[in-house]
Amino acid sequence: MSKMTVTDLKELKGKVVFVRVDFNVPLKNGEITDDNRIVAALPTIDHLRKQGARVVLFSHLGKVDHKDPEKCAADKAKNDMKFVVGRLSELLHDEVVYVNETRGEVLNNAVKNLKDGQVLLMQNTRYEKGESKNDPELSAYWASLADAFVMDAFGSAHRAHSSTYGVPEILNANHKPTALGFLMQKEVEGLNRCVNISDKDRPFVAILGGAKVSDKILVVEKLIEKADKVLIGGAITCTFLKALNKPVGNSRYEADQLDFARKCVELAKAKNKLVLPIDHVIADDFAMPLDIKRTDGVDIQDGYERLDIGPKTVAYYEKILQNAKTVFWNGPMGVFENPLFEEGTKSICRILTKITAEKGAFTVIGGGDSAAAAAQMGFKEGFSHVSTGGGASLELIQNDGHLPGIDIIANK
Ligand code: ADP
Ligand code: MG
Repeated sequence: MSKMTVTDLKELKGKVVFVRVDFNVPLKNGEITDDNRIVAALPTIDHLRKQGARVVLFSHLGKVDHKDPEKCAADKAKNDMKFVVGRLSELLHDEVVYVNETRGEVLNNAVKNLKDGQVLLMQNTRYEKGESKNDPELSAYWASLADAFVMDAFGSAHRAHSSTYGVPEILNANHKPTALGFLMQKEVEGLNRCVNISDKDRPFVAILGGAKVSDKILVVEKLIEKADKVLIGGAITCTFLKALNKPVGNSRYEADQLDFARKCVELAKAKNKLVLPIDHVIADDFAMPLDIKRTDGVDIQDGYERLDIGPKTVAYYEKILQNAKTVFWNGPMGVFENPLFEEGTKSICRILTKITAEKGAFTVIGGGDSAAAAAQMGFKEGFSHVSTGGGASLELIQNDGHLPGIDIIANK
């Protein structure tokens, strides 16, 4: 089923279009440390302005605790959308109407007084207690101000909140248009290549690493079902090794996930899908590594922790990836934040960008830390698609392409 997109919206001149953007940018003492998310929203905003729409932007920013009044005030001070508006107007090369409210007279009037092509940004949607609960009254209020709705906040599309779900639901019921923005469209197209995989796009190889199995149970299960091979790395390796009764030394593993890991091994057995590292980089201490070495094989000796995949594993994985037509990667191979343990993750970046450029493979990163690693190491541009949403990209894969914030948008 294909969804309405922003280019399907016609006769926008003078119309108030509510755009759910993802301006949940990292802040340090009120300064934006990375404006990628604002930059990513610009194509949709520019397009709507050119059509003469009156653009109302709304987004959450950080978390706001509504249970504890003191925490609530502190969260609001820290996550004030006023920190975003300056950068937004710089990037738009135009003034933005900023409304320090999420409802009421001031907002109503500001929306009413917008001129064609003008942009308004309202305060953090999570200042509203009802936002995260998809409160019908709040959704109805925002929807009452809008002639159309565009969803462009991929990082929030897995949440059915007022701004991502309630508002478009009401507009649909009132026969007003709802559509996906350009960023959403790109995410949906990129990630769906790893959901609906035809034979010509196989072998499909998934690479799974990162911190915890428990964060990604459903996606691991889904990828074992869909992929031709699942290559394991990262801290999750030791949960699998432990489940197979291999010595893991002092490495962390998740005792409560051993049954799940055994189930994965069992599921993957018939088709020999699950591939575990064959050597590791280990060290005596995670925080203060003094004695660092490579293992000969898969066993990890006492007194040492596994902190990266080893060179034999890299070569082994490279061989498997040479034939891949589609690759989905989530989770770093090691503690890449420390240059001593970055080699595994860097090698995966090198291999994947190489098969993208030289063999036309379609390579996708879904996962906040993996995307950050690729960017930090200078490989980001070489991937076919780097998702902007960590949690959202995993949920999209595990739900076969469905997310509340996508499903609620009108079909063509
Ligand atoms: P993503 O955000 O891409 O989904 P995760 O959040 O699951 O990835 O995992 C990222 C973290 O996993 C990184 O901070 C990295 O340091 C950590 N990690 C990877 N391998 C290990 C390991 N062997 N021991 C401890 N932490 C690890
Ligand atoms: Mg993470």
